[in-house]
Amino acid sequence: MTETLNSLRMRAERDGTHISGAERLVPIHQLEDAALKMVQRALQHPRGQAQQINISVEPIERAALQFGRLPDLHNNQVECWQQGRELATEMLVAFGVARVAVERAMTYLAAGAAPGGLSMRGAMLIDADSGERLEADPARGVRVSRMDLSCAVRQQLGPLLAGQGLNNPHVIEALTLAAKVVAAPTLAAELCWSDDPDYLAGYVASRNGGYQRISFLKAAGEERGGRAFFVRCSKDRLATLVDWLERQPFLIERIGRIHPARQWKADR
Ligand code: AMP
Repeated sequence: MTETLNSLRMRAERDGTHISGAERLVPIHQLEDAALKMVQRALQHPRGQAQQINISVEPIERAALQFGRLPDLHNNQVECWQQGRELATEMLVAFGVARVAVERAMTYLAAGAAPGGLSMRGAMLIDADSGERLEADPARGVRVSRMDLSCAVRQQLGPLLAGQGLNNPHVIEALTLAAKVVAAPTLAAELCWSDDPDYLAGYVASRNGGYQRISFLKAAGEERGGRAFFVRCSKDRLATLVDWLERQPFLIERIGRIHPARQWKADR
Protein backbone atom coordinates (compact mmCIF):
# COMPACT_ATOMS: atom_id res chain seq x y z
CA MET A 1 0.00 0.00 0.00
CA THR A 2 1.56 3.28 -1.09
CA GLU A 3 -1.27 5.78 -0.54
CA THR A 4 -0.92 8.48 2.10
CA LEU A 5 -3.15 7.76 5.08
CA ASN A 6 -5.06 10.37 7.05
CA SER A 7 -5.86 10.23 10.71
CA LEU A 8 -9.63 10.82 10.97
CA ARG A 9 -10.89 11.43 14.50
CA MET A 10 -14.32 12.15 15.90
CA ARG A 11 -15.36 13.37 19.35
CA ALA A 12 -18.98 14.04 20.24
CA GLU A 13 -20.48 15.79 23.26
CA ARG A 14 -23.89 16.38 24.74
CA ASP A 15 -24.48 18.94 27.53
CA GLY A 16 -20.69 19.26 27.86
CA THR A 17 -20.30 15.50 28.45
CA HIS A 18 -18.34 13.22 26.14
CA ILE A 19 -20.65 10.63 24.55
CA SER A 20 -18.75 9.10 21.69
CA GLY A 21 -15.40 9.02 19.89
CA ALA A 22 -13.91 7.19 16.92
CA GLU A 23 -10.56 6.78 15.18
CA ARG A 24 -9.62 5.71 11.64
CA LEU A 25 -6.58 5.84 9.37
CA VAL A 26 -7.90 6.15 5.81
CA PRO A 27 -6.71 7.12 2.33
CA ILE A 28 -8.16 10.34 0.92
CA HIS A 29 -10.78 8.62 -1.27
CA GLN A 30 -12.34 6.97 1.82
CA LEU A 31 -12.39 10.10 3.99
CA GLU A 32 -15.83 11.32 3.01
CA ASP A 33 -17.55 8.00 3.60
CA ALA A 34 -15.72 7.32 6.88
CA ALA A 35 -16.45 10.83 8.22
CA LEU A 36 -20.14 10.51 7.32
CA LYS A 37 -20.36 7.21 9.24
CA MET A 38 -18.79 8.87 12.27
CA VAL A 39 -21.30 11.74 12.22
CA GLN A 40 -24.21 9.30 11.83
CA ARG A 41 -22.94 7.33 14.76
CA ALA A 42 -22.62 10.42 16.97
CA LEU A 43 -26.20 11.36 16.12
CA GLN A 44 -27.55 7.89 16.93
CA HIS A 45 -25.62 7.13 20.09
CA PRO A 46 -27.47 5.23 22.86
CA ARG A 47 -26.17 7.79 25.39
CA GLY A 48 -28.05 10.54 23.55
CA GLN A 49 -27.84 12.51 20.33
CA ALA A 50 -24.64 14.53 20.04
CA GLN A 51 -24.95 18.34 20.18
CA GLN A 52 -21.34 19.09 19.33
CA ILE A 53 -19.30 16.93 16.97
CA ASN A 54 -15.61 17.56 16.28
CA ILE A 55 -14.04 15.88 13.28
CA SER A 56 -10.35 16.27 12.57
CA VAL A 57 -8.28 15.13 9.62
CA GLU A 58 -4.51 15.08 9.56
CA PRO A 59 -2.16 13.43 7.04
CA ILE A 60 0.18 10.76 8.37
CA GLU A 61 3.70 10.47 7.01
CA ARG A 62 4.20 6.96 5.75
CA ALA A 63 7.64 6.78 7.33
CA ALA A 64 6.07 7.49 10.72
CA LEU A 65 3.70 4.47 10.61
CA GLN A 66 4.29 1.50 12.88
CA PHE A 67 2.74 -1.85 11.97
CA GLY A 68 1.11 -4.33 14.29
CA ARG A 69 -0.97 -7.48 14.69
CA LEU A 70 -4.38 -8.11 16.22
CA PRO A 71 -4.32 -10.03 19.49
CA ASP A 72 -5.92 -13.51 19.41
CA LEU A 73 -9.57 -13.26 20.40
CA HIS A 74 -11.01 -15.57 23.08
CA ASN A 75 -14.76 -15.44 23.60
CA ASN A 76 -15.66 -16.18 27.24
CA GLN A 77 -19.36 -16.69 27.96
CA VAL A 78 -20.31 -16.05 31.58
CA GLU A 79 -23.72 -16.20 33.29
CA CYS A 80 -23.75 -12.75 34.92
CA TRP A 81 -21.58 -9.66 35.35
CA GLN A 82 -20.46 -10.69 38.84
CA GLN A 83 -19.01 -13.89 37.42
CA GLY A 84 -17.53 -11.86 34.58
CA ARG A 85 -15.69 -9.56 36.99
CA GLU A 86 -14.36 -12.55 38.94
CA LEU A 87 -13.08 -14.07 35.72
CA ALA A 88 -11.56 -10.76 34.61
CA THR A 89 -9.80 -10.43 37.98
CA GLU A 90 -8.30 -13.93 37.79
CA MET A 91 -7.15 -13.35 34.22
CA LEU A 92 -5.51 -10.00 35.02
CA VAL A 93 -3.73 -11.58 38.00
CA ALA A 94 -2.56 -14.38 35.69
CA PHE A 95 -1.25 -11.68 33.31
CA GLY A 96 0.94 -10.43 36.18
CA VAL A 97 -1.13 -7.52 37.53
CA ALA A 98 -1.23 -7.32 41.35
CA ARG A 99 -4.65 -8.21 42.80
CA VAL A 100 -4.77 -4.91 44.69
CA ALA A 101 -4.31 -3.01 41.41
CA VAL A 102 -7.11 -4.98 39.71
CA GLU A 103 -9.46 -4.44 42.64
CA ARG A 104 -8.76 -0.70 42.70
CA ALA A 105 -9.32 -0.39 38.98
CA MET A 106 -12.65 -2.21 39.20
CA THR A 107 -13.77 -0.07 42.12
CA TYR A 108 -12.95 3.10 40.15
CA LEU A 109 -14.72 1.90 37.00
CA ALA A 110 -17.80 0.76 38.93
CA ALA A 111 -18.11 4.11 40.71
CA GLY A 112 -17.37 6.21 37.59
CA ALA A 113 -13.65 6.95 37.38
CA ALA A 114 -13.98 10.67 36.52
CA PRO A 115 -14.70 13.31 39.17
CA GLY A 116 -18.39 13.34 40.11
CA GLY A 117 -18.78 9.61 39.42
CA LEU A 118 -18.90 10.09 35.65
CA SER A 119 -17.20 8.04 32.97
CA MET A 120 -13.85 9.31 31.76
CA ARG A 121 -13.26 10.35 28.16
CA GLY A 122 -10.17 8.13 28.01
CA ALA A 123 -8.41 5.52 30.13
CA MET A 124 -6.98 5.45 33.63
CA LEU A 125 -3.30 4.62 33.99
CA ILE A 126 -2.91 2.30 36.95
CA ASP A 127 0.39 1.19 38.45
CA ALA A 128 0.29 -2.60 37.93
CA ASP A 129 1.89 -3.27 41.33
CA SER A 130 0.51 -0.65 43.72
CA GLY A 131 -2.81 0.25 42.07
CA GLU A 132 -1.91 3.96 42.21
CA ARG A 133 -3.62 6.12 39.59
CA LEU A 134 -1.09 7.88 37.40
CA GLU A 135 -2.93 9.77 34.66
CA ALA A 136 -2.49 13.55 34.74
CA ASP A 137 -6.15 14.42 34.16
CA PRO A 138 -8.71 12.12 35.88
CA ALA A 139 -11.59 13.35 33.69
CA ARG A 140 -9.87 13.00 30.32
CA GLY A 141 -7.41 10.19 31.05
CA VAL A 142 -5.35 8.89 28.14
CA ARG A 143 -7.01 8.60 24.72
CA VAL A 144 -5.51 5.99 22.41
CA SER A 145 -5.51 7.45 18.96
CA ARG A 146 -4.24 7.16 15.37
CA MET A 147 -4.77 3.41 14.91
CA ASP A 148 -6.72 1.31 12.44
CA LEU A 149 -6.94 -2.01 10.60
CA SER A 150 -5.51 -2.28 7.11
CA CYS A 151 -8.17 -2.82 4.43
CA ALA A 152 -7.06 -6.45 4.02
CA VAL A 153 -7.34 -7.18 7.75
CA ARG A 154 -10.76 -5.47 7.92
CA GLN A 155 -12.01 -7.65 5.08
CA GLN A 156 -10.66 -10.86 6.59
CA LEU A 157 -11.90 -10.06 10.08
CA GLY A 158 -15.58 -9.42 9.26
CA PRO A 159 -16.52 -12.98 8.22
CA LEU A 160 -14.44 -14.54 11.00
CA LEU A 161 -16.21 -12.44 13.65
CA ALA A 162 -19.59 -13.03 11.98
CA GLY A 163 -19.06 -16.78 12.50
CA GLN A 164 -19.12 -16.04 16.25
CA GLY A 165 -21.91 -13.44 16.15
CA LEU A 166 -19.33 -10.76 16.97
CA ASN A 167 -19.17 -8.74 13.74
CA ASN A 168 -20.09 -5.37 15.23
CA PRO A 169 -18.30 -2.01 15.59
CA HIS A 170 -17.85 -2.44 19.37
CA VAL A 171 -15.76 -5.58 18.95
CA ILE A 172 -13.83 -4.35 15.91
CA GLU A 173 -12.92 -1.02 17.51
CA ALA A 174 -12.05 -2.57 20.86
CA LEU A 175 -9.82 -5.17 19.20
CA THR A 176 -8.10 -2.42 17.22
CA LEU A 177 -7.53 -0.28 20.30
CA ALA A 178 -6.33 -3.27 22.35
CA ALA A 179 -3.86 -4.21 19.59
CA LYS A 180 -2.14 -0.86 19.99
CA VAL A 181 -2.34 -0.91 23.79
CA VAL A 182 -0.77 -4.36 24.23
CA ALA A 183 2.00 -3.41 21.79
CA ALA A 184 3.25 -0.74 24.23
CA PRO A 185 6.30 -2.22 25.98
CA THR A 186 5.61 -0.82 29.46
CA LEU A 187 1.91 -1.72 29.47
CA ALA A 188 1.10 -4.95 31.34
CA ALA A 189 -2.62 -5.34 30.60
CA GLU A 190 -5.92 -3.62 29.88
CA LEU A 191 -9.42 -3.87 31.40
CA CYS A 192 -12.48 -2.41 29.65
CA TRP A 193 -16.20 -2.28 29.94
CA SER A 194 -18.35 0.05 27.90
CA ASP A 195 -20.18 3.19 28.98
CA ASP A 196 -22.93 2.32 26.50
CA PRO A 197 -25.92 1.25 28.67
CA ASP A 198 -26.93 -1.49 26.20
CA TYR A 199 -23.49 -3.04 25.72
CA LEU A 200 -22.71 -5.29 28.66
CA ALA A 201 -19.66 -7.17 27.41
CA GLY A 202 -16.09 -6.13 28.08
CA TYR A 203 -12.59 -7.56 27.93
CA VAL A 204 -9.19 -7.91 29.42
CA ALA A 205 -6.11 -7.98 27.20
CA SER A 206 -2.38 -8.45 27.40
CA ARG A 207 0.48 -9.16 25.01
CA ASN A 208 0.67 -12.89 25.85
CA GLY A 209 -2.90 -13.47 27.04
CA GLY A 210 -4.51 -11.94 23.92
CA TYR A 211 -7.94 -10.31 23.88
CA GLN A 212 -10.26 -12.08 26.33
CA ARG A 213 -13.80 -10.99 25.61
CA ILE A 214 -16.15 -11.54 28.57
CA SER A 215 -19.86 -11.60 27.72
CA PHE A 216 -20.99 -9.67 30.85
CA LEU A 217 -18.92 -7.21 32.83
CA LYS A 218 -21.69 -4.86 33.96
CA ALA A 219 -25.42 -4.69 34.65
CA ALA A 220 -27.99 -3.68 32.00
CA GLY A 221 -28.65 0.06 31.88
CA GLU A 222 -25.37 0.96 33.58
CA GLU A 223 -23.74 4.04 32.00
CA ARG A 224 -20.56 3.95 34.01
CA GLY A 225 -17.80 2.28 32.06
CA GLY A 226 -14.21 2.89 31.14
CA ARG A 227 -10.76 1.53 30.61
CA ALA A 228 -7.81 0.85 32.87
CA PHE A 229 -4.30 0.48 31.47
CA PHE A 230 -2.04 -1.31 33.96
CA VAL A 231 1.47 0.02 33.54
CA ARG A 232 4.95 -0.87 34.76
CA CYS A 233 6.72 2.33 33.94
CA SER A 234 8.82 4.78 35.95
CA LYS A 235 7.05 8.10 36.44
CA ASP A 236 9.61 9.96 34.33
CA ARG A 237 8.85 7.67 31.35
CA LEU A 238 5.08 7.95 31.61
CA ALA A 239 4.99 10.94 29.26
CA THR A 240 6.74 8.86 26.57
CA LEU A 241 4.18 6.07 26.97
CA VAL A 242 1.24 8.49 26.83
CA ASP A 243 2.68 10.23 23.78
CA TRP A 244 3.07 6.87 22.01
CA LEU A 245 -0.51 5.81 22.84
CA GLU A 246 -1.99 9.13 21.76
CA ARG A 247 0.16 10.12 18.81
CA GLN A 248 2.00 7.20 17.23
CA PRO A 249 0.24 6.13 14.00
CA PHE A 250 -0.32 2.35 14.22
CA LEU A 251 -1.66 0.24 11.37
CA ILE A 252 -2.67 -3.37 11.96
CA GLU A 253 -1.60 -5.48 9.03
CA ARG A 254 -1.89 -8.96 10.50
CA ILE A 255 -4.93 -10.72 11.89
CA GLY A 256 -4.97 -12.83 15.08
CA ARG A 257 -6.79 -16.12 15.72
CA ILE A 258 -10.50 -16.02 16.53
CA HIS A 259 -11.23 -18.81 19.01
CA PRO A 260 -14.66 -20.42 19.47
CA ALA A 261 -16.82 -19.43 22.45
CA ARG A 262 -16.06 -20.99 25.82
CA GLN A 263 -18.74 -21.34 28.54
CA TRP A 264 -17.93 -20.54 32.17
CA LYS A 265 -20.32 -22.06 34.71
CA ALA A 266 -20.63 -20.83 38.28
CA ASP A 267 -19.20 -23.57 40.55
CA ARG A 268 -21.35 -22.68 43.52
P1 AMP B 1 -16.51 2.36 24.61
O1 AMP B 1 -15.85 1.03 24.51
O2 AMP B 1 -16.39 3.19 23.39
O3 AMP B 1 -17.89 2.26 25.15
O4 AMP B 1 -15.66 3.15 25.69
C1 AMP B 1 -15.65 2.74 27.03
C2 AMP B 1 -14.76 3.67 27.81
O5 AMP B 1 -13.42 3.50 27.36
C3 AMP B 1 -15.07 5.15 27.68
O6 AMP B 1 -15.97 5.55 28.68
C4 AMP B 1 -13.73 5.79 27.92
O7 AMP B 1 -13.51 5.91 29.31
C5 AMP B 1 -12.76 4.74 27.39
N1 AMP B 1 -12.32 5.03 26.02
C6 AMP B 1 -13.08 5.15 24.90
N2 AMP B 1 -12.32 5.42 23.83
C7 AMP B 1 -11.04 5.44 24.26
C8 AMP B 1 -9.78 5.68 23.65
N3 AMP B 1 -9.68 5.93 22.33
N4 AMP B 1 -8.68 5.62 24.43
C9 AMP B 1 -8.76 5.36 25.74
N5 AMP B 1 -9.91 5.15 26.37
C10 AMP B 1 -11.03 5.18 25.67
